Amino acid sequence: MSQDSKPTLILLTNDDGINAEGLRSLREAVSRIGEVTVVAPERQQSGSSHALTLSDPLRISRIDEHTISVDGTPTDCVLLAMRGLFERKPDLLISGINHGPNLGDDITYSGTVAAAFEGTLLGLPSIAISVSSWKECRFEAAAEFAVVIAREVLRHGLPQGTLLNVNVPSLPPDRIKGVKVTKLGKRVYRDVIVRKTDPRGRDYYWIGGEPPIWCSGEDTDFEAVENGLISVTPLHLDLTDYKSIEKIRAWNLKPRLNDA
Ligand code: MN
Repeated sequence: MSQDSKPTLILLTNDDGINAEGLRSLREAVSRIGEVTVVAPERQQSGSSHALTLSDPLRISRIDEHTISVDGTPTDCVLLAMRGLFERKPDLLISGINHGPNLGDDITYSGTVAAAFEGTLLGLPSIAISVSSWKECRFEAAAEFAVVIAREVLRHGLPQGTLLNVNVPSLPPDRIKGVKVTKLGKRVYRDVIVRKTDPRGRDYYWIGGEPPIWCSGEDTDFEAVENGLISVTPLHLDLTDYKSIEKIRAWNLKPRLNDA
């Protein structure tokens, strides 16, 4: 409860779809600290990044007073939740718990992280949380930590334009070794494109391959979860590379080809 005795409003979304186990665990856990509303995609939307549906109408299903599914992306869900579905602005957004890691360079593909980006753009303190396993995910530790970090974010707020990306090892809670504030790791790119032929004789392609490998680096998110620690990476929406501004300004850039 906040001081004016209005309950804390917590908006939850994800990219694995409204029926995902990770979202269910998250809801159960954070219900202890506030009034929870879920606005989540109807279907699996992993890898949808920051996509916004512009060419089609969005249909919603009101499952109950506090649960809405949207036939769109995680970003659509956050935008709808913030611009019309509710009377009062939420106090906090949590996106997850994602089934699978969102580490290093891979966060640019992530629908889970994109939803938290969208929340941040709309002025809402936002957290993305994932379980760092490519196989079976254990959600207990992540759900418990979601409550811990949600409380801290509600207490301290977040700097403008900053969100938190959390990755939790897929371990029983008593085997988690601690929490580390980290930076994004660097991925070694070796995606494999598999080409096959469909029953009608047309080629199709499948992006796949082995789980990614990472450059070793101290204080990275990847290193933390590898060592059994929960990783918390602050991300900022300002993607400007300030170090390069002067360098690029020194190039010969002119609006037209024949300008001197
Ligand atoms: Mn996902």
